[in-house]
Amino acid sequence: MAKGALQPAQASRLNAGRTRVGPDLETVKATLFRSMGIDGVYARTGLYEDVVQALDRYITSKRPNGAEAFRFPPVMSRSMLEKSGYLKSFPNLLGCMCCLPGSEADVRLAIERFEQGGDWTKALETGDLVLTPASCYPIYPIAAERGPVPGKGYVFDVGCDCFRREPSTDLDRLQSFRMREFVRIGSAEQILQFRADWIDRARDMAVALGLPHQIDLASDPFFGRTGPLLAMSQREQALKFELLIPVISETKPTACMSFNYHQSHFGETWDLRDACGTPAHTGCVAFGMDRLALAIFVTHGLETDDWPMAIRDVLGL
Ligand code: ATP
Ligand code: ZN
Repeated sequence: MAKGALQPAQASRLNAGRTRVGPDLETVKATLFRSMGIDGVYARTGLYEDVVQALDRYITSKRPNGAEAFRFPPVMSRSMLEKSGYLKSFPNLLGCMCCLPGSEADVRLAIERFEQGGDWTKALETGDLVLTPASCYPIYPIAAERGPVPGKGYVFDVGCDCFRREPSTDLDRLQSFRMREFVRIGSAEQILQFRADWIDRARDMAVALGLPHQIDLASDPFFGRTGPLLAMSQREQALKFELLIPVISETKPTACMSFNYHQSHFGETWDLRDACGTPAHTGCVAFGMDRLALAIFVTHGLETDDWPMAIRDVLGL
């Protein structure tokens, strides 16, 4: 067993219910990651990070003409995310920052409780930050600040570290992961054209990277009893597509990119309007950087030197 590999019991949990493809997942995990003591949060090896960075450059090379780039921190304003409607759809996935408030004496009291074997976390107070759950949320208020959306609309290139509270032993479902997105703001026609173009471009990118894939209609994992209804309506309106790659399972391929149409949701929420006052429509194409990097390793093997020359050329490796 490779150094740092999973124990058999852990490995079978990792693979439960999924038909494996590619190299042995225990070896993949031991080669690319190190445990940080929590499921879905990993230290990444240099080998893995080199590929993530190469992918990042590759995606940048595909940046749409005229796109403005922003990189966001892994945290954002809690009130802005609340206003976005995130709590209606995915409250279970959200992480919220908290810290120790008060005077030095108050803080000391909490720490003393910890030193005496007690629970210091009882003294925590909810902060004004949440962990950014997707890299496009911060861009809508930035665009709205500029006043009316110009006729040609906007295109943004955004990215950040994202957090979602969905602990799992599956290597393709992390709590902390990287996302890049191209975001389009404009008329319904502009968004639908952008999304159609990007579904084609994404297919070409997957071909260039030698990744087996399919595009499929998809839905978001909406929270609670009403979740399935919302998901059904999202599918009926064809608001979300995904590019799926067999990363750890042939039968349940992994969503590595998504193509989303939000209609006028963010336009109305942020008062993003055109010169006539009509709410803007928005859409985004999202690249799951960690899932894509994992897909490349699983498909082509763990030795980058052994990858087909064409793939190494595309990635500049
Ligand atoms: P899923 O259906 O697999 O939960 P999602 O529909 O919630 O994914 P999006 O919100 O569209 O995903 O996020 C954009 C991309 O971010 C996804 O296509 C995927 O590549 C990546 N992503 C989402 N959640 C995770 C995660 N928990 N771990 C790693 N990557 C993720
Ligand atoms: Zn988005």
